[in-house]
Amino acid sequence: MSNSEVVISDDARISSSNSTGLILTLPSEIILEICGLLLGPELVYFAQTCKILYAFLREPYLWRKLCSQHGVVDPSRYGVKSFFTVYTQLLYPFGPLLGLWANDHPYSGNILQFILWSGSGEENGGILGGVWRFPDPDSHSMEDGLPVFCPGQPVFVNILKIELHEDGQRASISCIRHPEAGFQPHRLTMTVAASSSQGLFLQTHRRSFTHTPFPGRSPPWLDQSARRLPRLIPTHLPPVDQRGMANMFPAIQLPILFSAPVYDTSPASLVLDCDNPTTVCELWHQPRITFDGLLPYPPSYFPIHPVIQRSPTSSPDSSAVEYRLLEGLWLYVDGRHGTQCLYIETQDSDNNFSYLFRAWKITGDAYVPRGEVKWSVTGEVNSQHIYRGAGVVGDRGFLVKRHGEIIVEIQTMDRIRVSWVDQHDIQLCVRYTSSSKPSLQ
Ligand SMILES: [Zn+2]
Repeated sequence: MSNSEVVISDDARISSSNSTGLILTLPSEIILEICGLLLGPELVYFAQTCKILYAFLREPYLWRKLCSQHGVVDPSRYGVKSFFTVYTQLLYPFGPLLGLWANDHPYSGNILQFILWSGSGEENGGILGGVWRFPDPDSHSMEDGLPVFCPGQPVFVNILKIELHEDGQRASISCIRHPEAGFQPHRLTMTVAASSSQGLFLQTHRRSFTHTPFPGRSPPWLDQSARRLPRLIPTHLPPVDQRGMANMFPAIQLPILFSAPVYDTSPASLVLDCDNPTTVCELWHQPRITFDGLLPYPPSYFPIHPVIQRSPTSSPDSSAVEYRLLEGLWLYVDGRHGTQCLYIETQDSDNNFSYLFRAWKITGDAYVPRGEVKWSVTGEVNSQHIYRGAGVVGDRGFLVKRHGEIIVEIQTMDRIRVSWVDQHDIQLCVRYTSSSKPSLQ
């Protein structure tokens, strides 16, 4: 894979040297005024059009303003002297990463979060990447004779850092998880993988099964705007066809996952590849190995749509308008598989007279993988906030998909109770609150 480097596409450059020449005849305050009206990326293109302009645009005022929009007020916190360096080497290329990402690791998936960190007394700031891990749900209540577990909010475990160097021109990316014995921080290559048509299959001793595609066809949780990808050269990962290899595996080693080309294309994604991978690094991105696999590439991460999270404690009123605010990330405890993450999609119809809720699995397990719709309910809006529908259950490997009756009760804007009628199970969904600030662990 190619090394990380910031490249600005040619069509975005302002190519006419005449027009920049004219601009340079204007008084410097006016040039600065014009530049102040440009958005950050446009300003970077503009600065690249001629040497004089480039030098002129190192004027700190402009870059301070752009940095302050990200909350950066002191470049020295990031190990450099100028706002120009912080913006052009860190925020411009890597700022689009900030937020949540979900990967396509088979069955379980994984969530990665990027935050901007302003450093501490001993350590320079940068952009930190962390995976989500959940505390064990240690307490439960009893409802209708069934144990109901309340999921905890995720803990951000910092595993990578993008940082600046005063001497060099380019930010470096490293894998930094340290408490493990003998773990040495090492370089990590970040790649934007162009859209691809690679599918996953599970080979059993009888036949092969298509594994749930991820992200699938335009799910509502996927942020499809190109601005969410870091500004790196996209790389085409060559297609891989492992069908022949999967057929040759001895029965005792089955089932096994393999990869082969498919018709549907996945959007561009983020791929992280440690230059010197350890088992520890692999486990951060591939937390559960459900079946052995011939996976040709590290997992691909896709951006999760940023949704405004409502503040806790409110109850829904009887108007369906409020239901739209339920859209977003939710957590629940699946008895056997720990805490999992759902994206709840909301849709009204008949002028808010009836409503549909659909819960997409962002993370999953061997029985219902990431990317599947876990449940969906619909019905006329009612003041009890109770809706009926169907949920999905599977066997190990998700070879057979079955539906079961469910009843969903919206208890508050942050709490939804899901009763599985045939399975005699109750799951409590709790909203992921972005206000639960990631704590560095
Ligand atoms: Zn690593």
